[in-house]
Order: sequence, then C-alpha cells, then structure tokens
Amino acid sequence: MVQLPLPAHISEKAVLESILPCKDVDGFHPINAGALATGEKGFVPGTPAGVIELLKRSGIEMEGKECVIVGRSNIVGKPMAQLMLAENATVTVAHSKTQNLQEVCKRADILIVAAGKKKLITKEFVKPGATVIDVGIHRDENNKLCGDVDFDDVVSAAGAITPVPGGVGPMTIAMLMLNCLESKKMLQK
Ligand code: NDP
Repeated sequence: MVQLPLPAHISEKAVLESILPCKDVDGFHPINAGALATGEKGFVPGTPAGVIELLKRSGIEMEGKECVIVGRSNIVGKPMAQLMLAENATVTVAHSKTQNLQEVCKRADILIVAAGKKKLITKEFVKPGATVIDVGIHRDENNKLCGDVDFDDVVSAAGAITPVPGGVGPMTIAMLMLNCLESKKMLQK
C-alpha cells in the first residue's frame, strides 16, 4: 500500500501504476478505477466502499434518492459518485468551484462530505431529515478530532449522521481488510 500524499518530488502516478492491480487493495490503480467506472469487478477504495456498507447496514434507501457528494478527489469523491450511481441514486458532485454550495447540499436526501474543510457544513446546508455522512478528519481548536460537518449544529436537523471519530474511519479500515483478504484469495488461485 502507498500512503498518500507522497513528497512533491515523487510522481504519485508512477508509484500507483507500479502496483500489480491484483495487489492494489486501495483501489487506486487506473485498472481498478476503470473497472469501477464501467461496472466491472475490481478493488474499490475503502472509504467510499465503507460509506455504502454503512448506509446499507443502517437501512438507508439509496435508490432514486438525491445524493450530493462534496469533493471530487480520486480517493473519495469520484469513486463515491460511481458507487452511488451503481445503487441507483441521483448523484450530484460538488467541488470548490460549485456555486451556491448551500443550495446544492440542501437538495440532498443523502449528503456525503469529503471536502477536507473543517466544519464546512452547518445546519443551513442540510435538508431536514437528510442522512449526513462526514468523511473529513481534522483537529479542532481544542485538539479534538472533528469532521467536515459541524456535528453539534447539524445533529438536530439530520435524520441520521455519522460522528467523527467513530463513523467513516473504522469502515475504511474494515473495507481495506476485506480487500486484503480478497487479494490473498485471488493470488492463491
Ligand atoms: P482532497 O483535498 O483530495 O479533495 C477535497 C475535495 O473537496 C476537492 O475535490 C475540492 O474541490 C473539494 N473542496 C475543497 N474545499 C471545498 C469547498 N469549500 N466547497 C466545496 N468543495 C470543496 O481530499 P480527500 O478527498 O483526500 O479527503 C477529504 C477529507 O476526507 C479530508 O479531511 C481527509 O482527511 C478525509 N479522509 C478521511 C478518510 C477516512 O477514512 N475517514 C479517508 C480519506 C480521506 P476541487 O477539486 O475543486 O479542489
């Protein structure tokens, strides 16, 4: 596994592409990213896979729902959008150039936030009763872990919300372990 980000003088692309796709448990290799985009079997990045598992196990319906994803990174936002499409959600991907982010987020039945901006999302961004998934990890002014969502502000508006820590993070690790087992099984065949 490659721990990103790499130092600036090392090409991320060259390093990621040097991993055998069948050992690419992070799902970052273009072959696995392409498989996800085209609905083929392959390794899916742990964080977005963990979010899907979390939604399914919490009984949150995705089919036909408005899903807004804030962030379009290769690691979280883009694969998250592919996975939500595969679950038949109607998907909007917002990013730093999105206009009226608040209005866009407020459309969401399921709001997934992976912007890397501390407490970006307050209750004004959330439709009452929406499911809010917080991918961000930061330290607040008291050195406590917090997310991209202002949990205390949003909790009363949301129908369901993930905490930071103890929400998406452990799911990422679980999905990564699952990919490791799958890889080992594939290599034994
Ligand atoms: P990146 O910095 O790679 O991507 C951030 C994305 O958010 C970009 O697409 C950016 O837009 C967008 N963005 C930034 N600011 C805004 C804004 N003000 N409004 C709307 N969109 C914005 O981050 P990652 O995807 O790698 O990670 C996101 C967060 O998730 C981080 O806090 C990271 O630590 C955390 N993380 C947590 C994991 C977990 O297991 N819980 C795993 C991976 C990440 P643009 O493309 O225009 O620049």
